[in-house]
Amino acid sequence: MPAADFLVVGSGLTGAVIARSLRDAGREVVVLERRDHLGGNVHDHLHPSGIRIHTYGPHYFRTNAEALWRFVTRFDDFYPYVAELRSEVDGIAEQWPIAASYIRRTIGATWTPGFQGTPTNFEEASLAMMPEPVYRKFVQGYTEKQWGVPARSLSADLAKRFDVREDDDPRLMRHAFQGIPRRGYAAWMSAMLEGIPVELGVDFLQERARWVARRCLIFTGPIDEFYGGDLGRLRYRGQRRTHRFHPEVDGFLLAAGQVNHPDPATGPQIRTLEWKRMMPPDEARAIRGTVLTQETPYTPDTPDGFEYPFPDETNRRLYEAYRQRAAADPNVLICGRLGEYRYYDMDQAIARALMLSRRLLGEDLTAS
Ligand SMILES: Cc1cc2nc3c(=O)[nH]c(=O)nc-3n(C[C@H](O)[C@H](O)[C@H](O)COP(=O)(O)OP(=O)(O)OC[C@H]3O[C@@H](n4cnc5c(N)ncnc54)[C@H](O)[C@@H]3O)c2cc1C
Repeated sequence: MPAADFLVVGSGLTGAVIARSLRDAGREVVVLERRDHLGGNVHDHLHPSGIRIHTYGPHYFRTNAEALWRFVTRFDDFYPYVAELRSEVDGIAEQWPIAASYIRRTIGATWTPGFQGTPTNFEEASLAMMPEPVYRKFVQGYTEKQWGVPARSLSADLAKRFDVREDDDPRLMRHAFQGIPRRGYAAWMSAMLEGIPVELGVDFLQERARWVARRCLIFTGPIDEFYGGDLGRLRYRGQRRTHRFHPEVDGFLLAAGQVNHPDPATGPQIRTLEWKRMMPPDEARAIRGTVLTQETPYTPDTPDGFEYPFPDETNRRLYEAYRQRAAADPNVLICGRLGEYRYYDMDQAIARALMLSRRLLGEDLTAS
């Protein structure tokens, strides 16, 4: 029966960072991965044209923590990449997040937010930041495509993920350190797991009796799946992606690497990506043609499609019931975006995994 002191299920950022930290501290670790590649959702691949595609959607790395930046650049150089997005509104690729100058141009110099008071849902929280017509054009349609439900039924917290730019700063994020691994995310993740045994194509839940974790099982898959969904299934959204190569294009087709489509009249697609814009400029210039990818949200029923935890009260409560059950088992740690049913940006996922690793090592040291 295969055994290891620490068995890590899942080779995404959470599992890989924990495995790396335990291995660096001299512990015995084995990683199991259900997919046929390691790296979880930050994985990328090359289109035959040489254009690098982020397989599970665009990933822009950013952090304000120098120690975290040192950690990630240990496994590859990062080239500078600061994401700038657009939203297609009235046929124009407007800045996203919304620029205050857009509001002044379309509403007037003195405008009032569409909601006053303490917001109780996503719509109210968004309206508290902007006039109602601006909310309808930029935010409501996008949000309802993304989640497939009225914006009023979603949690107010979700609106913390964007703002209105008083200074018209076009950068999506203003973190001190921003970039993308030069050799790509897949190579970066392989370097992170170098020297650690990784078994690909193994679904731990299908063969859990075959594996022994002597000290701790670290599970980074969906928490409800771990318990067979016996309290109910947590809800997720995912994206279907269709790629199209335009061989004749010498340069770019879109105004930015990511253009959002908030208008319901434009169809169910939520955004279009132009990957070449996310590559180092010298590499992009050498490639003829461009790949555009359209993303369309849907409700996945198999775990491989789970991307975004559903931000509402019903799912929060169900997750809490599973979390309490997991907390009662000292030999199992369920973590990561699927294990904790929480959207973590990459820097947050890494910081949390480093913290959990220190906790695992502390417990390990006192136990021996
Ligand atoms: C569309 C999208 C875009 C994003 N863009 C950004 C961005 O621009 N910037 C940013 O900072 N963050 C971004 N993120 C967040 C980023 O993807 C996460 O922070 C990261 O994926 C978290 O890693 P994880 O290891 O927790 O989860 P995952 O990457 O999902 O890894 C979990 C792994 O566990 C495996 N697994 C699950 N169950 C089993 C099982 N039973 N047996 C074996 N293996 C199993 C899975 O196959 C998977 O490889 C984005 C996320 C999404 C969904």
